[in-house]
Amino acid sequence: MNDTILQQFMMHAPHEPQKWFTPKMPIQRPIMPAAFKWCAGCKDGLDCEHNADCEKITIVQNGVRLWDEGYAKALYIQWPVAWAKAVLAATRAAIAKAEGNHD
Ligand SMILES: [Zn+2]
Repeated sequence: MNDTILQQFMMHAPHEPQKWFTPKMPIQRPIMPAAFKWCAGCKDGLDCEHNADCEKITIVQNGVRLWDEGYAKALYIQWPVAWAKAVLAATRAAIAKAEGNHD
């Protein structure tokens, strides 16, 4: 791949990542196990006697929050390259079509 052309396309990537783009993440977003239940106090936003699940839920929630923060960064960091590769692929396809190469 021609890095100079790719860098040119990257520089012209739209500022906002488009909906079709999903950044690659090192791990999947944590999922809250359905079996975890808040104690009655936490559930109602009152003082509570935490059960074992309250702590596990908090840990998973923190994991989700950190993952979401990482995703928000990855979205903008990975977007210009994804855009440039998409433009390059589309350009090559258009050239191939114009030259009558159907592959
Ligand atoms: Zn609790």
